Amino acid sequence: MPQHDQWQHLGGGSYVMRSSAARALVNIGLVVGSERAVVVDTGCGPRHASEILAAVRTVTALPLVVANTHAHWDHFFGNAVFRNDGATDFWAHAAAARGMAATGDAQRESVSGVEPEMAAGEGPGTDLVLPTRVVRQGPVVLDLGNLSVTLFTLGPAHTEGDLMVGAPGVLFTGDVLEEGADPQFEDADRAGWIRTLRKLAGMGPEYPVMVPGHGNPVTAGFAARMADAMEAAV
Ligand SMILES: [Zn+2]
Repeated sequence: MPQHDQWQHLGGGSYVMRSSAARALVNIGLVVGSERAVVVDTGCGPRHASEILAAVRTVTALPLVVANTHAHWDHFFGNAVFRNDGATDFWAHAAAARGMAATGDAQRESVSGVEPEMAAGEGPGTDLVLPTRVVRQGPVVLDLGNLSVTLFTLGPAHTEGDLMVGAPGVLFTGDVLEEGADPQFEDADRAGWIRTLRKLAGMGPEYPVMVPGHGNPVTAGFAARMADAMEAAV
């Protein structure tokens, strides 16, 4: 039997892995159907993504679809490793796709300490692989075989293009939710973020488990408290 020690099973076909201690401690999501699986975010570069891919392959040998929650380096710089593994569909919010194209090269310096090849743009798996499929206003349903995931946006928040990945009972929110660390505002729409958190706060019945971009899984009540804290800080 394969070992799934790195993964926390969240129910249904959903898993999360905190990856990696040496780098950004970003949450990597995995939703496994009977015909394909979705990987949510890909890490900081080829070193990190190779570890993530190896961990994914302890769970499933199925073809992979990638969803990037937003245009920050720790969430999409590993895409090339997944393309090299055969993935062809890379989903993101349309605004995130624009952001990756516009700022991807400038973001390389952010990984100089942990992914020198990615920082230099030299070597295998260091291409910036941009989204091939985009989500705009309406939700997109991906059929994975025996289950489906819904990709959708709740509006600008942590960035202009935050993508929600909804699996049965589990919602991967990217950095719109941040557990154990302060929210990051450099590309944020603060008022939009509060509105989005209020929407998340009402989605508990559909998604009892919410997975932040960093930190432990939470519930809808956490989104409400995050909105309260953000409002109080204005
Ligand atoms: Zn971010």
